[in-house]
Amino acid sequence: MNWEDNVRKVVPYVAGEQPNKPDMIKLNTNESPYPPAPGVARLAAEMDCDVLRLYPDTDAAPLTEELAAYYHVSRKQVFVGVGSDDVLSMAFLTFFNSGRPVLFPDVTYSFYDVWANLYRIPYKTCPLDDNWHIRPEDYRQPNGGVIFPNPNAPTGVLESLETVEEIVAANRDVVVIADEAYVDFGGVSALPLLEKYDNLLVVQTFSKSRAMAGLRIGFCIGNEKLIGYLNDVKFSFNSYTMNRPAQILGVEAVRDREYFRETTAKIVNTRERVKKELKELGFTFPDSRANFIFATHDRIPARQLFQALREAEIYVRHWDKPRISNYLRITVGTDEQMDKLLAFLRDYIR
Ligand code: PMP
Repeated sequence: MNWEDNVRKVVPYVAGEQPNKPDMIKLNTNESPYPPAPGVARLAAEMDCDVLRLYPDTDAAPLTEELAAYYHVSRKQVFVGVGSDDVLSMAFLTFFNSGRPVLFPDVTYSFYDVWANLYRIPYKTCPLDDNWHIRPEDYRQPNGGVIFPNPNAPTGVLESLETVEEIVAANRDVVVIADEAYVDFGGVSALPLLEKYDNLLVVQTFSKSRAMAGLRIGFCIGNEKLIGYLNDVKFSFNSYTMNRPAQILGVEAVRDREYFRETTAKIVNTRERVKKELKELGFTFPDSRANFIFATHDRIPARQLFQALREAEIYVRHWDKPRISNYLRITVGTDEQMDKLLAFLRDYIR
């Protein structure tokens, strides 16, 4: 017997790299290219030292209340965490506890199988169709829960509210999680379904549309009972998950509705323009409703393009994985950043 025999061995999630080069164009981790709402930086600069000295509110009450008001739900329906990764990981631990396999798409956010393995939750992947859409009939088999991003990552494909409802309705005996990390860029939220279904959990984040990936704020909305169970697990794990600065600055970000509308609209406009230009350069891609485009070129292998872009200090994301190894996931940056990307590609592909 060796101590290593009893170690919980896991293959960790690999996040996109965070290079730090002065002139780089960073389009590899779906961050916003714009700053957070102006009030966020102002409040951060004015922060009193007690914000650091004192423990945070364990319920993150002001932020929870602000989100509840924004989404027209009760505060008992909202749970916040350290990025949506924290919320999702807590949700896996809390709700996927039956011993039956959890279902998610074969091409999806690559943290799902990592949490399943970490918590020893069996899982089964359901292949997306040839157009990268979910086949709702796949989610009619016995299972221990369902999770999918909508829009999906890394494809950007949006499923209709009807498809989401079909899956939630077919799985009333388990929890269905809609991971809406990218919903603010033209997606359709499943939040209205909460009135009808008590087995739905909707997860969102401040990391993309609210430009606060560095602060780590995520949240989910579900019925009070479901959120209660999530809180029981969270308080059995770590009472002080979300730090004080995040709680204060998060509130300010939610308050500035106009800035939120402006910046998300800018990203959507840029995305639609870049789609047209990529098409002219010989790229094809599913119609993204997220802040990234998942593109493949008709002649040049994705890996080669990835390397060439990297050498030019333009960072995009590439995975050596089945079905997607010939695709690049390109985050939508500012118009200026995207013009530089397109200029490089025009030159390289010629
Ligand atoms: N869900 C999806 C689908 C994502 O792509 C990401 C970003 N990596 C997350 C959740 C987690 O984001 P965060 O923890 O920054 O909220």
